[in-house]
Amino acid sequence: MPHDPELKDFRDEVRAFLRGQLPADLRRKVLDHQRLDKQDFQRWHRILHERGWVAPNWPAEFGGANWSIERRNVFDEECALAGAPETVPFGLRMVAPVIMAYGSDWQKSHFLPRILNGQDWWCQGYSEPGAGSDLASLSTRARRVGDTYVVTGQKTWTTYAQYADMMFCLARTDPDARAQQGISFLLIDMRSPGVSLRPIRTLDGGEEINEVFLDDVVVPVSHLVGEADRGWTYAKYLLSHERFGAARIGRAKRELGHLQRLAARRMVDGRPLADDPVFAHRLTQLEIDTLALEQTNLRLIARDQRGAGHGAEASILKYLGSTLAQRISEALVDTAGAHALAYQPAALERDYAQGGPTVEQELEAMPGFYLNLRKISIYGGTDEVQKNLIAKLALGVADDYTEDERALDDAVARYLQDQYPAPASRVRSAADADPAATPHWRAFADMGLLGLGLPADAGGMDAGLPELCVLMQQFGRHLVDEPYDASTLLCGQLLRRMPDGGAVRALLAGMADGTAAPVLAHAGPDAEWALDGGGVTAERRGEGWVLNGVKRRVPHGMGARQLLVTARDAAGVGLFLVQAGEAGLTRAGGAGLDGRSYADIALTACQVAAAARLGEAGAALAQAADMTRVGLCAEALGIMQALLDATRDHVAARRQFGQALSGFQAVQHRLADMLLSLEQARSLTWTAARSDPDDAPLRGRLASAAKASCGQAARYIGQQSIQLHGGMGMTDELAVGHHVKRLLAIEYTLGDTRHHINRYRQLARA
Ligand SMILES: Cc1cc2nc3c(=O)[nH]c(=O)nc-3n(C[C@H](O)[C@H](O)[C@H](O)COP(=O)(O)OP(=O)(O)OC[C@H]3O[C@@H](n4cnc5c(N)ncnc54)[C@H](O)[C@@H]3O)c2cc1C
Repeated sequence: MPHDPELKDFRDEVRAFLRGQLPADLRRKVLDHQRLDKQDFQRWHRILHERGWVAPNWPAEFGGANWSIERRNVFDEECALAGAPETVPFGLRMVAPVIMAYGSDWQKSHFLPRILNGQDWWCQGYSEPGAGSDLASLSTRARRVGDTYVVTGQKTWTTYAQYADMMFCLARTDPDARAQQGISFLLIDMRSPGVSLRPIRTLDGGEEINEVFLDDVVVPVSHLVGEADRGWTYAKYLLSHERFGAARIGRAKRELGHLQRLAARRMVDGRPLADDPVFAHRLTQLEIDTLALEQTNLRLIARDQRGAGHGAEASILKYLGSTLAQRISEALVDTAGAHALAYQPAALERDYAQGGPTVEQELEAMPGFYLNLRKISIYGGTDEVQKNLIAKLALGVADDYTEDERALDDAVARYLQDQYPAPASRVRSAADADPAATPHWRAFADMGLLGLGLPADAGGMDAGLPELCVLMQQFGRHLVDEPYDASTLLCGQLLRRMPDGGAVRALLAGMADGTAAPVLAHAGPDAEWALDGGGVTAERRGEGWVLNGVKRRVPHGMGARQLLVTARDAAGVGLFLVQAGEAGLTRAGGAGLDGRSYADIALTACQVAAAARLGEAGAALAQAADMTRVGLCAEALGIMQALLDATRDHVAARRQFGQALSGFQAVQHRLADMLLSLEQARSLTWTAARSDPDDAPLRGRLASAAKASCGQAARYIGQQSIQLHGGMGMTDELAVGHHVKRLLAIEYTLGDTRHHINRYRQLARA
């Protein structure tokens, strides 16, 4: 998201307010996962109300703050991070927007000020014993008698009904109408005769939900919202109204911080749990997933602001937010381990006069938090119901391109669609043919694509990583074989950061016009990525250098005419330009996993001139590798989107058991899961692409987060695409298998998922 100075000022203002106004005891209760009572909520409500901030989403005419979604997001995040209680949603965020949109003038003037100042506490009377996910099957009846409705029935799971003054309630007013019709939206005074409650004790031992019995409760007609029998429309409006609070990023970050601190203090096997390799891996994965969700949230907000939303945003964020919060709570209870056995419900009702909890008391309280949080994948629409909604789209969230990026994307897509052969019908040249000597490479040069990221003084266009990612995404979608990633991107970015010598300049100019396409020979005998120039040494001999050693699995290494070889010399790790035909250089290999050639290269007393040493690889190589990783992630995004599209089309067309496969929920949910993992990977890739490439620690952390997330998404999407194509998925004749193999190849290039999870952890702790 672009840096917005106004938003930064606003964030500072919110922080200052929280520092000054959030009572310390309330903060402690929230941070320690203690149960909040009515007084706690009301106290915070009053403080916010006095500041004019209790109703961020309300228009100013009703006394609201009328903030943009971005501001609300900042406010929610800062409040959660500081340990402020969440405001109770039923009045402020649920019934109030419905009253504003559909209520009578009297309802607006009577109820809205009382919601704003906290005078009335509201509860939500939707669910019934026989009506849960299928809410329209509700059976509570409201009969019209004169100027009143007489309501009879039972509501259940009603949160905080014991505190409530008012309930907004769905009741059937026309029993003969079809399910969603004949329902009305009524506002019921909880003190009315005939209203009674039974508290329901939950798993953690708390009592926040209730059964509500309605026995001939008389409700004045003035408490009917909008028109009779049209309540379903208003109920749906309510559910769709608050679209962007669902990810609860602030809370996730706060709990993650709590988890990190607690795991550092909890001793297991004689060391902090945070240092246990299995637990540390889990922690890092949660950190990466939290970062991904934060970016997905911002991306969807930005799209909504531009009017480009597609309607499933709330479901995507609710599902991802619930899943993440529950995973963090699981890790928290696992941090407690055997201390969890001592849990008692009273652990969530501490007397702070006796002082704060010890670490052991904190650990003992964890099961309460963990068990309580099971609710969030059930209320407000269960995970399964959210996936039903997401699957209806099963479309990726289109990329957020600038105008220039869109133009580039269109031009590349047009060329590849018209000219580039489908993977299964591709005739591949011999493995030792120059991979850049194809008509397409020529065309890429003519279109200016080869010089896109190269310096202007070498005939390039000096474009940044976002443009290169636009290109790579299209190259992924069409499974381009030419060595754009290995040569143009990796070597181009590396060379442009080398000392400005004649050889470097000539090479870059050749790369921009398509006559040169060097590839990097870097990985040593174990074929893994490391920055130490493994496997090859360089010694000064006379005027030149002598290279000895082995480089493994060099992409496009069989056909490339020029190699950039990293080698350890007296000064560090040098970068050497070596012609492929040089005496003492031999290559072995052939067409590999994804049809492109991979070579093992042996250098035996290979003599090169002094000028072959282009400079020290070090920082330049680290930066070029990170940029290429992000480019590879973009390529993977293009491939994953192609797989998702192909799989969606296949299950819509293929019929079994008398219906399209897409009619089966098991298939729909698989598509939804594919989409969700693609979107998380997309968020991290674009965050990395748009970050400052000269900020080395940030760049490295984001590139590794993106590479790990893309690796995991690629694995899942690849496997599910094969699975959902059935036997067809196993053939070489479809593009699916070719896409899957390229995804595997990307996974093992410049560090695999394991490598990048470790690297992310190291960089995040540095
Ligand atoms: C702590 C808590 C607080 C709540 N607060 C309130 C409140 O204040 N007011 C209120 O009105 N309600 C409240 N609810 C109720 C909540 O909205 C419902 O529990 C929820 O809608 C699910 O309904 P159900 O419990 O009847 O489950 P069911 O609908 O019976 O679902 C059971 C399981 O079947 C799955 N399932 C159901 N339908 C489908 C489908 N079509 N496809 C695939 N899977 C399906 C569900 O995902 C779930 O896993 C609360 C619930 C909880 C747990």
